[in-house]
Amino acid sequence: MSATKFQGWLGKDEESVKGKMQWGEFEPKKWTEDDVDIEISHCGICGSDLHMLSSGWGPTPYPCVVGHEIIGKAVKVGKNVTHIKEGARVGVGAQARSCLQKDCPDCSNGIENHCHRGVVNTYGSVYPGDEGKSYGGYATHNRTNAHFVLNIPEGLDSADAAPMLCGGITVFSPLKNYGCGPGKTVGIVGVGGLGHFGVIFAKALGADKVVGISRKEDKKDDVLKLGADQYIATDGDKDWAKHNAQTLDLIVCTVSSEKMPLNDYLSLLKTKGTFIQVGAPDGGKLPNINAFTLIASGIKVGGSAIGSPAEIAEMLQLAADKKVKPWIQKRSMKEANQAVIDMVDGKARYRYVLEN
Ligand code: NAP
Ligand code: ZN
Repeated sequence: MSATKFQGWLGKDEESVKGKMQWGEFEPKKWTEDDVDIEISHCGICGSDLHMLSSGWGPTPYPCVVGHEIIGKAVKVGKNVTHIKEGARVGVGAQARSCLQKDCPDCSNGIENHCHRGVVNTYGSVYPGDEGKSYGGYATHNRTNAHFVLNIPEGLDSADAAPMLCGGITVFSPLKNYGCGPGKTVGIVGVGGLGHFGVIFAKALGADKVVGISRKEDKKDDVLKLGADQYIATDGDKDWAKHNAQTLDLIVCTVSSEKMPLNDYLSLLKTKGTFIQVGAPDGGKLPNINAFTLIASGIKVGGSAIGSPAEIAEMLQLAADKKVKPWIQKRSMKEANQAVIDMVDGKARYRYVLEN
């Protein structure tokens, strides 16, 4: 039997992030009876796609098809798969595999997203053994292990659901795990794709007060319309940190710049507050943190990676129940290169979703 071929936008080198991906064929991972083949209808454009196309996090195993906010129809379902039916509307986020062993402290505790033995990302990873490489969703089809394929609840639009699978869950998970809810004031730093979900989900989880914090002044009306109670434009007030010091219980930060004003962000926390970093700078570099910033206020700094399949399912159901409506802009899959250029230029308001 000849190998299956899918088609998609191939990044062939670091230049691909400048709108130079090339449409072509690729061979997906070797089929196993644990897998699902998906005919893709939608795929969001995540900031991570840019890091990967440009080898920002280390050498990318080109050719690479990015995209890990995938929605589509299950067109082939492995014999070992019970929870996905052929023809179902399904989704895949940023993770394609973990070890799933009973003795794994992460997988056995429902935090597959932190598995230290065998995470395979939806794109740009090489599977162990001879299964080949993982390829993402700027494509016609995707093949992923069913454990990381989710049914999409009725009532959620496919284009809306797509960016929740990475952008949404990456903020939903730390908001939930670090106590966002009634009685809490929550800050979301960097109101882009992830950050706009941060504002929406912090509200949906019942926070008393949600504050959007980003550079651009012209985002103010949008962020308030998204549901934030306050917006801080750091470009608009040189004393923004002083004016808002010690006002927040929890901050989720989506900014990925090595030059971000991290100590100023931390100064917004109340005593014993928590700061969770999800933005992933090139090379992993963050600014230095002054020890007295941590000590004096007794604050905690942590990080978070996407979310587990169970958390994603919980978020999708909450979104369907509460009629959560992200702000997306649909782009044709054919214009993926231009959409990537626009994403690099910070033009997305607030997530581009490619449509086949
Ligand atoms: P995005 O849509 O580009 O949003 C990032 C936002 O950060 C921008 O809209 C920008 O808004 C703001 N920002 C503030 N200061 C900035 C600065 N100095 N430089 C650049 N931007 C600045 O990107 P995204 O899709 O939300 O992704 C954000 C980051 O999260 C990426 O690094 C991505 O790889 C990472 N990520 C991590 C995980 C995880 O599991 N931890 C999962 C998904 C994505 P203003 O211009 O208004 O400031
Ligand atoms: Zn992502």
